[in-house]
Amino acid sequence: MIEINNLHKSFGSLEVLKGIDLTLEKGKVLAIIGPSGSGKTTLLRCFNLLEVPDQGMMKIGEMSLQFQQGNGIRTADTLALRKRTGMVFQSFNLFPHMTAIQNIMEAQVTVQGKSKAAARSRAAELLGKVGLGDKADAYPHQLSGGQQQRIAIARAMALDPDVLLFDEPTSALDPELVGDVLKVIRQLAAEGMTMVIVTHEMRFAENVADHIVMMDGGVIVESGPPEQVIGNPRSPRAIQFLNRVT
Ligand code: ADP
Repeated sequence: MIEINNLHKSFGSLEVLKGIDLTLEKGKVLAIIGPSGSGKTTLLRCFNLLEVPDQGMMKIGEMSLQFQQGNGIRTADTLALRKRTGMVFQSFNLFPHMTAIQNIMEAQVTVQGKSKAAARSRAAELLGKVGLGDKADAYPHQLSGGQQQRIAIARAMALDPDVLLFDEPTSALDPELVGDVLKVIRQLAAEGMTMVIVTHEMRFAENVADHIVMMDGGVIVESGPPEQVIGNPRSPRAIQFLNRVT
């Protein structure tokens, strides 16, 4: 589903991604872990072109993109890629003036051209799936952070993406609200949704991911199944990081 070769990205003179290689099969869950500032979010944002890589190759589903500094990406390619990738942000980013159900309907109508009735019916189904069937008409400010994040997940699911991308989905939440959000993500994993999750929750990563990559300083320092990366890391930088956080 995802294949990335030699991906590079700099901000000015700061090289944040220094040649990333990755593959992820359909239906699998990839967790990206590592210290703050190591490039995790930048890598995730490259997957839907919120950041445009300077160099390298990226394949998502049928779409293949080659990056070269100075060469822009066609708008059509950006839009096509964004339809295939749903993004869930750390700070939810719901539309504040829309109710929960309107948030989930919006892109179905504007991007997919669905009728309002069809969009509403799909949105209601997704609300039920994230356990918020009774919150359809609530505005974001009337909901807890955990509930807002579950609405954001439903919104990302509404376009039936090939891949769901999560950028530290629980780090803005009070500890007691984390569990409900992780439960929804776990349920999606069990249903075979392909997902990439940047997370600080080591136990969750270990538990939900099929594959974990650990980044440090813009490179992947460890890559493999959870039992290897977290249970038996080899690189000194990975061992040091895990000793600090677990
Ligand atoms: P992580 O997610 O691992 O904490 P990030 O990908 O957010 O790391 O950031 C990696 C580095 O890139 C950091 O030094 C950060 O300050 C820098 N960075 C991220 N986004 C930008 C940007 N838009 N402009 C300039 N520097 C950025």
